[in-house]
Amino acid sequence: MSFKDIKGEACAIDFLKNAASSDRVASAYIFLGPSGCGKKLTAVNFAKLLNCSGPIEGEPCEKCGSCNKINSSAHPDVLVLEKEEKKAEFGIDIVLEAIRSVSLKPYEARKKVYILDDADLMSEEAQNAVLKTLEEPPQDSLLILMVEDIQAIPATIKSSEKILRDDHLVDVKDARVLARLSLGSIGKALENAKDGFLDKRARTIDALKTTKIFDSDFEKMKRGDFIGCLDIMLSWYRDILVTKAFAGKDASILNIDKIDEIKAEAKRLSFEYLDSAVNAIADAKDHLDRNANPKLTMSVLGIKLEERG
Ligand SMILES: [Zn+2]
Repeated sequence: MSFKDIKGEACAIDFLKNAASSDRVASAYIFLGPSGCGKKLTAVNFAKLLNCSGPIEGEPCEKCGSCNKINSSAHPDVLVLEKEEKKAEFGIDIVLEAIRSVSLKPYEARKKVYILDDADLMSEEAQNAVLKTLEEPPQDSLLILMVEDIQAIPATIKSSEKILRDDHLVDVKDARVLARLSLGSIGKALENAKDGFLDKRARTIDALKTTKIFDSDFEKMKRGDFIGCLDIMLSWYRDILVTKAFAGKDASILNIDKIDEIKAEAKRLSFEYLDSAVNAIADAKDHLDRNANPKLTMSVLGIKLEERG
């Protein structure tokens, strides 16, 4: 199985391929989505790509020693950790062992990859231990947490929500959305709370629906604002894609307060359109990262998004 066999996750896959080819791999990723959406396959392929000795057009070769070992679950540096079947929670013992070995150098791989399946079923103690590791990540290692229900990560989402509400007097409903959209990063959630993020999101979503992306707003925006705007677009189309593909499973929806609008858009827009929209937005983000002109980048994106499928 390669990236080509994974359906409906084109955005995430292109993003990871770009990260791998430009050597900008983060030290941890959270893969969020309902079970069966290809999270594990994507994670294993990413591990293969990072360690493959001769990738072909952004795909692992499937022939080298590293690819073969990963395919037969025999690679000493690529581990998929799962909850024990009979237990309700992901035990602290498995997690502590993983954390200990994450801090050691890889045996033979370029990048040691730990894939934690069912990370939302980790005990709170285990989650805290993982989060601490993520604050000071080891250089040659990569941790991928696979999560089905974003709300089930109490140590991150719930505490962010509570801090926003109790310490910063953010409205209950807004706190819920901000915590989700920042994937539990309290720094990002706070920045957004102060920054009129929800208004910005409302304007961006409106712009997407009417495809009038180029109003006077863009005249005043800075590079960082454009990237923020693209992130909002990605979260929006991501939510619509997940809703369309996995109807009735709302646990991983980020824009949770807009669920009715998301459902309506999921009916209206085709998979083909959503896929191409997400790719176009990811491309725009990549261009901005490489210092392209923001207004030009956005106007190319606007033209692509207007070509409705
Ligand atoms: Zn290979």
